[in-house]
Amino acid sequence: MRSGFPDFRLGSVLATSFTGTLSERHGDAVERIPVPQRLIDWLAVNGLDVDSCTTAQLDRARELRESIHAAATAAATQDALPASAVHVINDCSAQGRAAAVLTPEGQRRWRLDPASCVEDALGVIAADAISIIAGERDGRLALCASPTCRAAFFDTSRSRTRRWCDMNTCGNRQKKARFQANQRKNP
Ligand SMILES: [Zn+2]
Repeated sequence: MRSGFPDFRLGSVLATSFTGTLSERHGDAVERIPVPQRLIDWLAVNGLDVDSCTTAQLDRARELRESIHAAATAAATQDALPASAVHVINDCSAQGRAAAVLTPEGQRRWRLDPASCVEDALGVIAADAISIIAGERDGRLALCASPTCRAAFFDTSRSRTRRWCDMNTCGNRQKKARFQANQRKNP
């Protein structure tokens, strides 16, 4: 980790890991990709290596992120999808030209065009968001139960009863708060 910048929260679903780069949206928001280099770092961790990123590309990435967040939140609460968010997601998906390639070991890798790396990477993220919002993948979109978080996450648990975006952060905090409340009630 680069010192001075907040850590990434990593999940197994690309699109919601990406929306998780802004956390505590309803509390003291934490921006985890505050500078272009941190977007480069985040993409590298997620198998989308890019050489460079401009401030305009970071702005575009954040616009896509908030659009995915808005559309995923609407999908989780069964509201109509916001048209502007759908527009940005579709635009990013259409602009990306990443190629899925199969490695000799049987794994999928993304090959990005050197001339349009960040756009290609955003295209991969947008397409991932489309597949979960459209309900094409096995799982359920839900919102984190933490009132300061309310992050959209993709629940792939068998019972589909996951309550928190991340057990190690929001889940733990809630557990601790409950424990302390009980301690106060039963000293
Ligand atoms: Zn949360």
